[in-house]
Amino acid sequence: MDKTDVLRHLPAVHRLLAAKEAKVLLEEYPSTVVRIAFGEELQRLREYILALEPQADSEIDERTSERSGRNHLGPVPQWVSSQIDIPAIVQRVAEQLARKYAPSLRPVLNLTGVVIHTNLGRAPLSARALQSVVEVAQGYSTLEFQVEEGARSSRHVHVERRICDMTGAEAALVVNNNAAAVFLVLQEMAEGGEAIVSRGQLVEIGGAFRVPDIMAQSGVELVEVGTTNKTRLNDYERAMSERTRLLVRVHTSNFRIVGFTEEPDLVSLAQLAHRYQIPLFEDLGSGALFDYAERGIGDEPTVAASIAAGVDIVTFSGDKLLGGAQAGIVVGRRSYIDRMKKHPLLRALRPDKMTLAALEATLIDHQRPHPETDIPVLRMLTESVDDLLQRANAVMDLLEEHRQWLTALHFEVCENTAKVGGGALPLVELPSVAIRIASEKVGATTLSRLLRTVPDVPIIARIEDDAVWLDVRTLLPGQEFLLAKGLADVGQSLVSRELT
Ligand SMILES: *Cc1c(COP(=O)(O)O)cnc(C)c1O
Repeated sequence: MDKTDVLRHLPAVHRLLAAKEAKVLLEEYPSTVVRIAFGEELQRLREYILALEPQADSEIDERTSERSGRNHLGPVPQWVSSQIDIPAIVQRVAEQLARKYAPSLRPVLNLTGVVIHTNLGRAPLSARALQSVVEVAQGYSTLEFQVEEGARSSRHVHVERRICDMTGAEAALVVNNNAAAVFLVLQEMAEGGEAIVSRGQLVEIGGAFRVPDIMAQSGVELVEVGTTNKTRLNDYERAMSERTRLLVRVHTSNFRIVGFTEEPDLVSLAQLAHRYQIPLFEDLGSGALFDYAERGIGDEPTVAASIAAGVDIVTFSGDKLLGGAQAGIVVGRRSYIDRMKKHPLLRALRPDKMTLAALEATLIDHQRPHPETDIPVLRMLTESVDDLLQRANAVMDLLEEHRQWLTALHFEVCENTAKVGGGALPLVELPSVAIRIASEKVGATTLSRLLRTVPDVPIIARIEDDAVWLDVRTLLPGQEFLLAKGLADVGQSLVSRELT
């Protein structure tokens, strides 16, 4: 066939729409969307065919070639003609639409070994939290309704009692995230006045959250005291003035200054603040309710320890070491929390029902006998190397079933080091287990890109020593099969590369 014949054989849009192959598409997408997609695909084909170079290929029929003569309408290779029939066009349009309309926010397999990975969504929720979110979100709920009285109530009541029980605080308040919690505290407690902070704590938390900036934003004048490595109690005391509204302590979540260092202990700092009748505010960041240190994991202070030391207001995240939904939690003295509950800003920072459902359920998990098995973050942080080894071997066993596709890849179960992440416990190295993958066909960068682009669920791995490492500490139970399937897909694409 020459170009004119091929172009004449292109089906019209209405024929494509009426074809039986297009039926599924019309159930999946609005008909205008399908019509436009067919039109665009036909236009692409026309342009492609017209731009084809003249063929000297023996496949092409001599007579047609002589007859047409002119280059721009010259013969067309056989395979092009096979791409213009109705099933082929519908198939391609189906693939294009599927790609275009696929959700952007979707699951991935985290094999980085970073447990609280902010870019990958921080804390996976517990079964109880998931169930509660579904139940509360799929219908109506008691969000702001008191059932016994049949009266209006506040969304802030649902989790307050539990948070107070677990932290020893008098009152609690939940907002959208910890950055918002810090902002609310500074605004309510110190706007127009001064807040004193140690120079060793003027940190950047990430995502443009810097302590000096957030102070300025909330209209609070920052008074820096001490030095980067040493701040003493009398540095704070000398900075006190009539304009001082708040003593601020920021937990340096994501870094540590080690060596020649000094910071006053919390009890002394609280006593100093109270002597001047000023509240002490601590931004704890991660906010552990579970005593990780007692389990030999780092030295993270618990929220309860801060309250017990006399801190008046503590803020922390709901989706870091607590292992729940994105939220910022403010706990402390009732008189201060009550003031924040009346702040007009709270309306803009209030959490939604799904957050509250997930948070309350996670708090229930914390109060039950086995938080370290029920809450995914706690489970991942405390899982033993023996258990991890078993899970890595389970994946290796599953890979056996795909052996024929995995000839271009080498797998090895190795010791590895996982991280807590989320700016928490930066020095803690969790002994872990990884599957190391290497290939003679492609380098580690290509291999990790192939893993990220597998058809089902992207696999996010780590590259080290020119190999790809899959740390199983962050592989959730039940994901072993998906991982093995993804690896088989990558193996298959490498083998078929070889064949073509
Ligand atoms: C993480 C962190 C924040 C920010 O918390 P988000 O919940 O991410 O808003 C603030 N302060 C400290 C010390 C942190 O570690």
